[in-house]
Amino acid sequence: MRVIRVSDIPRPKYRELCQAIPHLSDVESNPKIRMLIEEGLRISEPAALYREVPIDERGEDSILAGGVKLVSPLLSDITGHARAVFPFVLTIGSAMDAWMDSLQDLYHRYWADLIATEILHCSILYLDGIIRENREIKHLAMMNPGSLESWPLEEQNKIFSLLGGNWRDIGVELLPTFFMKPLKTVSGIKFSTESVFEACQACSREGCPTRRAPRDPRFASKYQIL
Ligand code: SF4
Repeated sequence: MRVIRVSDIPRPKYRELCQAIPHLSDVESNPKIRMLIEEGLRISEPAALYREVPIDERGEDSILAGGVKLVSPLLSDITGHARAVFPFVLTIGSAMDAWMDSLQDLYHRYWADLIATEILHCSILYLDGIIRENREIKHLAMMNPGSLESWPLEEQNKIFSLLGGNWRDIGVELLPTFFMKPLKTVSGIKFSTESVFEACQACSREGCPTRRAPRDPRFASKYQIL
């Protein structure tokens, strides 16, 4: 299927954003923090690309989708009920990078980063909604190269090749290090599951401020995650 561009992702509402950011209520009365929230919302420009790609083959440690072999035992396992995957890239724009860089105070930068991360997360949820509605999918999960040991960052190249170079249309660049620009950009694949799955369940990172689900020890033992 062709690559679909979603450039009308709405920015979250001020209150919705505040409720989603952990511990924000402790500092929300601070006028500078309120100003950062308003600025972040105004500057962000969420946009995404995605396409649907059938799963051609499944191995123990990989899947073949759209002629591209994605190597990850966890990915092969967790996509077991899916017949297709949705490679995607989503960004909230380069103006956010310039805005965060312009902040001199480390405390303000910390909050700006959290605000930007949450705008990114809200945009991901919006894209989920579009795919779920279009394809009548109940549970849509996501995995991103590099977020888990079970799917290394080097696999990022494959996501971009599945999107066929169109990522430049939304101002995204893949660097030789496999990191992306703008900073607040996420790529990966989405897929249907029988029940809710969050990559955080298989992630061992301690103290992650954006953790969305507790670590599940069953994943740790199965995939030898430390
Ligand atoms: S715990 Fe944090 S680093 Fe790990 S997958 Fe979740 S958000 Fe990403």
